[in-house]
Amino acid sequence: MRILITGGAGFIGSHLCDRLLAEGHTVIAMDNLITGSTANLQHLAGRDDFTFVKHNVTNYIYIEGSLDAVLHFASPASPIDYLQLPIPTLKVGSVGSLNSLGLAKAKGARYLLASTSEIYGDPLEHPQKETYWGNVDPVGPRGVYDEAKRFAEAMTMAYHRFHGVDTRIVRIFNTYGPRMRLNDGRVVPNFVAQALRGEPLTVYGDGAQTRSFCYVSDLVDGIVRLLGSGEHDPVNLGNPRELTVLEFAKVINRITPNTAGIVFEPKRIQGDPQQRQPDITRARQILGWEPKVPLEAGLQQTIEYFRGRV
Ligand code: UDP
Repeated sequence: MRILITGGAGFIGSHLCDRLLAEGHTVIAMDNLITGSTANLQHLAGRDDFTFVKHNVTNYIYIEGSLDAVLHFASPASPIDYLQLPIPTLKVGSVGSLNSLGLAKAKGARYLLASTSEIYGDPLEHPQKETYWGNVDPVGPRGVYDEAKRFAEAMTMAYHRFHGVDTRIVRIFNTYGPRMRLNDGRVVPNFVAQALRGEPLTVYGDGAQTRSFCYVSDLVDGIVRLLGSGEHDPVNLGNPRELTVLEFAKVINRITPNTAGIVFEPKRIQGDPQQRQPDITRARQILGWEPKVPLEAGLQQTIEYFRGRV
């Protein structure tokens, strides 16, 4: 297949490029590099089955020749990023989704939208099933991301139902691994960088909020399976092992190892979800997928990646 990946220079996008190239596909990675980096694609330079195009998908997307699939992964994705880039976040989720869907329709290509667990907001149902409609504050600081992705899901289903585009929607829960940006403000790069510097880990709030962390190779495997499936309704992908942020901090300090301990700081962002855990029953049934990499093993890989960079 000839595949376009928007956000191809980002954390997940670049891992997807690697995986799809390894399967023999031809890949075009498109990115405007506001949060992505060509360093994530450096090892692919010079290959004749790979092209990088610097472009903001909020503007009309022109691709010469045929396309078999469009994977829309472009977006700022960490809370700090979308607080600093609220309007680009809204635009890439809305206009960028519209442009990439229009491209898929014009090319007769399959389309896969990278959606997010953020569409569930601060969830009142736990764990989160795909049938849950969510608890989102549209005008809170996280609303720019949550609502853009909710809009993108609605638009994707409209293109499927009205234009017959062969669409997929993946709802991605917290994912971690090499190529996360050191300064993206998320809990994994923050804690790992602090631990490697021998500093105390900054837990926001009392640390009782929960997250469930999926290693990037597991996530990418699920995405590839979803792309190959005939499933049009949203599918959650994530690791159901749930930890409090405080427990997570202790794991990082233990395995780095770091003896500087933990400090508690006020919550940075209003609307920080109190709990998050994917129900992956649908992914298990439809895709035969479940995550395989244990947290400690995935964190070792991630720590190695960050070690040379802090
Ligand atoms: N968090 C923290 N310390 C940090 C960074 C994040 O305690 O240095 C918390 C944050 O408040 C949230 C959780 O870790 O409860 C996950 O935050 P992240 O920014 O990784 O992404 P989110 O899951 O909220 O989208």
